Amino acid sequence: MSLTMLEAMPTEQLINELQSFGARLEDASAGVASRQGGAGPSDHKAMTIDGMTVMVPVHTAPAFKSPYLVGLPDAQGRSRIRRNGEIVAEISFPNTPKFYALSTEDGIPFSKIAVLHGKDVLATTVLQSCVRYTSREKTCQFCAIGQSLAAGRTIERKTPAQLAAVAKAAVELDGVKHMVMTTGTPPGKDRGAAILTESVAAVKAAVDLPIQVQCEPPDDDAWFARLRDAGADALGMHLEAVTPEVRARIMPGKAQVSVERYFSAFAAAVPVFGKGQVSTYILAGLGDTPNAILETSAKLIAIGVYPFVVPFVPISGTPLANHPTPTPDFMHGILQPLAKMLLRSGLNATDIKAGCGKCGACSALSAYERVQKNDL
Ligand code: SF4
Repeated sequence: MSLTMLEAMPTEQLINELQSFGARLEDASAGVASRQGGAGPSDHKAMTIDGMTVMVPVHTAPAFKSPYLVGLPDAQGRSRIRRNGEIVAEISFPNTPKFYALSTEDGIPFSKIAVLHGKDVLATTVLQSCVRYTSREKTCQFCAIGQSLAAGRTIERKTPAQLAAVAKAAVELDGVKHMVMTTGTPPGKDRGAAILTESVAAVKAAVDLPIQVQCEPPDDDAWFARLRDAGADALGMHLEAVTPEVRARIMPGKAQVSVERYFSAFAAAVPVFGKGQVSTYILAGLGDTPNAILETSAKLIAIGVYPFVVPFVPISGTPLANHPTPTPDFMHGILQPLAKMLLRSGLNATDIKAGCGKCGACSALSAYERVQKNDL
């Protein structure tokens, strides 16, 4: 492949397009098996482009009509991506992790306890059920947390001992660098902070691995210090959408926790975890305008919270399965100014100790941050 082909399409633009349009695969078995259903990125495959690993939708409705086709891997595991027949980049797929071959003593495959995200992130959903997933009126419309459980690809409750065993193996066998622990929201007022606390403590006792925990704002801000004292390095509390009307429409249950409560929780958590170690996931393309996302991001950045803005990708089987993805231009209009804001404020994906912002595979944001830094 000649350099001019890569120069013709900047990496951040290519990532934006791949995440909007998805990609077709000549060899569906290449790379790490893609996951269908579950929390976090689903219906995606991890691919490494220009040194950055990104999650590219491959099982979604738009992906079947994508102009992008990923070719068969060569003997070195490299594939070429064609756009409407023209080669635009070379990619590689992260290898299937070795820990996937292991099982617990009672026969549960480690891959049902935690999975590899991106190229070096261990990700788990400690509780694979959610108080908000019980009825259509309450469920977050984008969420597939129950699908992988129903299909038998995961177990509902991962015990601290199971998580510790898998994390140790993933570090020792596959060189995993950080861990994301998310959870469905249980009925209690702590909103999952209690099970995250015991899970983090168990993993940290077994292996030295930076961990990000993710939950809704708990009833009591004292949970932040408990999570940190258990060993959590970073915290994610995910707004998902920023405009109250969009939140009420897309996630009628979770929207009962107001944006104001998220901001008071952020203000309490930043002094505990440090500037830039608290983050929030914002799904662009669900109805928030670019201005609304940028205005909220500016407020978040001002209090030391990293806004991880990702393009919404519909997941098969959810109420939003046929909702369109945002266009690459829409994402560009948000991510370019956002990367500038982050650079000016001194918040960087690379400084985050663990979690989604550090991994960055669900968005082109870190590619934009890299461009801004190189332009300095
Ligand atoms: S950004 Fe978060 S959800 Fe996306 S692949 Fe990375 S760890 Fe997983």
